[in-house]
Formats: sequence, C-alpha cells, structure tokens
Amino acid sequence: MVMTKKVRFGPAGNPIDYKGKTPEVCDYLASEGLDAYEYQATYGVRISKKPAQELQENAKKNKVLISMHAPYYVNLSSSDSKVIDRSIQRLVQSAQVAEWMGAYRIVFHPGFYTKYTPEIALEKCKQSIAQILEQLNEKGIKNFIFSPETSGKKSQLGSLEEIINLCQTFENFQPTIDFAHLHARSGGSINSREDYQKIVDELDQELDINHLHCHFARIEFGSSGERKHHKLSQKEYGPPVKPLLQILMESGWSSTIICETPLIDRDALKLKNCFYEIVNI
Ligand SMILES: [Zn+2]
Repeated sequence: MVMTKKVRFGPAGNPIDYKGKTPEVCDYLASEGLDAYEYQATYGVRISKKPAQELQENAKKNKVLISMHAPYYVNLSSSDSKVIDRSIQRLVQSAQVAEWMGAYRIVFHPGFYTKYTPEIALEKCKQSIAQILEQLNEKGIKNFIFSPETSGKKSQLGSLEEIINLCQTFENFQPTIDFAHLHARSGGSINSREDYQKIVDELDQELDINHLHCHFARIEFGSSGERKHHKLSQKEYGPPVKPLLQILMESGWSSTIICETPLIDRDALKLKNCFYEIVNI
C-alpha cells in the first residue's frame, strides 16, 4: 500500500464517463490525476475473487489506494435477530472481498437506533461486531480494517462520539469521517476552520490515527438530518471546502478524501486542484 502522499483524492464508485471494466478502472483514474478509489458494494458484494485480485494489481500499478464501501443493508443493532445475522454475513463477506482487492478500509454504516436508546443500540452493535470478528478469525481472514462511518441521519447510529467509541473498542477499526454527514446530522454545525478543527482535535485526542479516511459532498438536510448530496459547485450547501483542505494539510496525518457528490470523479479533481492551490500559497 502506498500511503506517503499527504492527501489523496478519488471517487465513490466508477467515474462518470468510464465505460470499461472495474478491474481496470485505476488506469482511467490515474490518467485523470486521481489516486484513490472506493469500490461500491453498496447494493451487495457481487465481485468474485479473480476480478477483485485484478483490481488490486491494477491499483498497485497505478499507485491508487483502494477502499471498499460495504452494503447499505446493514443494521448491527437491529431488534430482529435475522437482520443482525444477515448484516454480520454481509460484513464477513465484505472483509473477504476487501482482502482480495487489497482494500485498506471497509467502510460501513453500523446501524439504526430504532426502538433502542443510543447506549443500548451501541451495545448491541458491539455484540454483533464481536461475532463478525469471531467468524473472520475462524475463516483465517486477517488483513482488514473496518471503518465505521459517521452517519447523516439522526435515526442512524454514527455520531462522531459513537464512531470513536467503536474504534476504541475494537482492534482493526479506524473511523471514516463523512464531514457532510456530520454537518447534516447536527443541523449544519460545520461552517468554519474552527468547526473542522474541533473534529480533528477530538480524533487526535481519542484515537491513534496515521491516515484518516474521509468522505465529502455538499449536503442538503432537514430536521431528521441528511436529505440529498449536491455538486461541489452548489455552494449554497455546506460544509465548506477550503478550511477542510487546510486543516488536513496541517494535521499530523495523511488522509484520503472520497468524493460523494453526484459528479464523483470530476468533483474529486476539483477538490484536488483546490488543495494544490492552497499548498502553493
Ligand atoms: Zn459517506
């Protein structure tokens, strides 16, 4: 894995104009000037061993860092044991595929509070994670880092504190910080450099981070949180871009920003260009 760059940029999923096969996508990304890629298994883990391994080779050749987004249909804190079992199965499967493709993070949304208090939901989630780790151990799958993501809806488990808590509890866990989601679930709390700094300071104090995995988009929200992702050019929606890039540049870590706007790779390039403008000042 090549991680020496200060900040890497890439799309969530295949680039908009890319018509080729996924195992060769990193040729295209590198030609665009991007160096990160989040493989989307959001609607199910469908890739088999050989193409996953080809993707890993293609990523290495192009010095692209791969992460993987696990299926959306995961609820590790469900009151329904069948839902929990299916969720566990999907994440075990994700870890297997992540190993094949050399994904440095397995991004996932931990679950929903449903009828539970946040404390009980978190506890249930931890019990499910313990089962995932047990199954992976039995299968001899060792090369994985799970990366629970801060969530955009208030009904979802995934506040910054909860994500930090999960990462403190389990080895092989590192956070995915989706700044748009944090902005949305808090009713628009990220507006300045200081607001970003608070998040970064908290992560610094609570966790041992070398490389931070991030998601970014412009986001529209309502009273229950996230509503819609918007393009980078739609500046009427937060959170702001420049102070984030500045904070990441000055932090003690390297990082990866996966762009989740509707213009995935094109906006990832815009973010990259903006970052290099700041660096050159
Ligand atoms: Zn995200």
